[in-house]
Amino acid sequence: MTDKYLQLVNAGPTRNVAKKLGLPRPAPLRRYATGDPLVTKPVLVLGDSAESDAVSTSLLSWDVEVHRHALADEQLSAIVVLLDELSHPDQLAGHVLEAGAALRDLAPGGQVVTISRPGTDGDAPAVAAARQGVEGFLRSLAHELRAGSTANGIQLADGVPPSSVGAQGALRFLLSGRSAFVDGQFLLVGDETGAIPADWHHPLAGRVAVVTGAARGIGAEIARTLTRDGAKVVAVDVPAAGQALAAVANEVHGTALQLDITRDDAGEQILRHCVDRHGRLDIVVHNAGITRDKLLANMDADRWNSVIGVNISAQLKINEVLLGSEYFTDSPRIVSLASTSGIAGNRGQTNYAASKAGVIGMTRATAPLIAEHGGTINAVAPGFIETEMTARIPFATREVARRLNSLQQGGLPVDVAEAIAFLAAPQAGGINGQFLRVCGQNLVGA
Ligand code: NAD
Repeated sequence: MTDKYLQLVNAGPTRNVAKKLGLPRPAPLRRYATGDPLVTKPVLVLGDSAESDAVSTSLLSWDVEVHRHALADEQLSAIVVLLDELSHPDQLAGHVLEAGAALRDLAPGGQVVTISRPGTDGDAPAVAAARQGVEGFLRSLAHELRAGSTANGIQLADGVPPSSVGAQGALRFLLSGRSAFVDGQFLLVGDETGAIPADWHHPLAGRVAVVTGAARGIGAEIARTLTRDGAKVVAVDVPAAGQALAAVANEVHGTALQLDITRDDAGEQILRHCVDRHGRLDIVVHNAGITRDKLLANMDADRWNSVIGVNISAQLKINEVLLGSEYFTDSPRIVSLASTSGIAGNRGQTNYAASKAGVIGMTRATAPLIAEHGGTINAVAPGFIETEMTARIPFATREVARRLNSLQQGGLPVDVAEAIAFLAAPQAGGINGQFLRVCGQNLVGA
């Protein structure tokens, strides 16, 4: 589905009318294509922490021009602010204000990335205040940026240096067009596991990935994106979607598995297919999901149970089988689809929101189990994404929902797929048990 308004406000005369009337002016987002340079203009690295040199060194090794101080009138692709050594909120001013002064040089579609530490229960009050202060600052800045620019943060658990694999992986993801629709979010790097891929453009080379619900929509795009990044994809969907499923599997040169994931033996069938056909299984993306919306007062057991059954209970059962298998032990990855409805709630979606909040809980609790195999499990929570599902929303409601985020537009299925591909990759090894919103900083709810 195309967003005609976005096209209009970026073309000739209508662009000026929208500007004069103060109407929302969503900008075309900078999205990634294989082989794209990470950024096209210099990156400003601010901060005097011991590790800021290490961050600059990483950027230089990725062929990025690095500045340590703003130069007058030179456009920047990104501003990276190191705030990992804060111990008091009074220390925020220095680098935050320096970043503010450099914002006028940020090119359209640019990024601001903070690198800080999460506040934890054991922190002294001033330390906790400073660390949490970064969250308020960054999220507000994300609301202020325009022209398709975003602001996101990397949080490093105590002891994890900014030069760690996970921090480097997160920084590359946030600087690249892969995170175009991620805005106002933090990625928590909890430990130093993970690996730098041999080829940053094909980080999933040699890996076998299962994608459920792959016959259409977001699932089909996930299959394409994982394939682009080097994985061999097994596309799973219900037998009724067999034809569309075969088309996707052929397109990505993968294999198709017709399977209702709520079947008791779904986990065993997935394992058998992957081992028999591809000799291994490394990545599982739980994307299949359904909605059966009704106000709770009118909710029947069928609607409630089918949504819980597909969206969370099937995942729990499949994970149990996979985590008990010797074939899922080589740094395995699970990525599950949550939703902003599962975070903020949504009218008419008590069943759906329960299942998606359940995904977030399941992810957190499964993290230590999969970590035993050097693996990770994470969730991605999409906001308004342009799909067949959202195309069915009545025009006025859809138009409002689309604009109610900092980027003033809906995301594309590829934006969700990019976040999933990143979390499935070796460089995201230190990120476990988290959820990442891909919602353009949706203004509704949490
Ligand atoms: P979609 O309805 O277009 O596709 C879902 C696919 O899952 C279909 O091909 C369907 O056949 C398959 N499926 C359903 N039940 C299944 C089962 N029992 N076994 C196997 N396959 C099954 O949905 P979409 O919009 O592409 O959404 C994909 C995921 O993203 C879902 O989990 C959804 O909840 C989530 N999500 C979507 C949005 C959005 O804006 N579209 C927002 C937030 C979250």
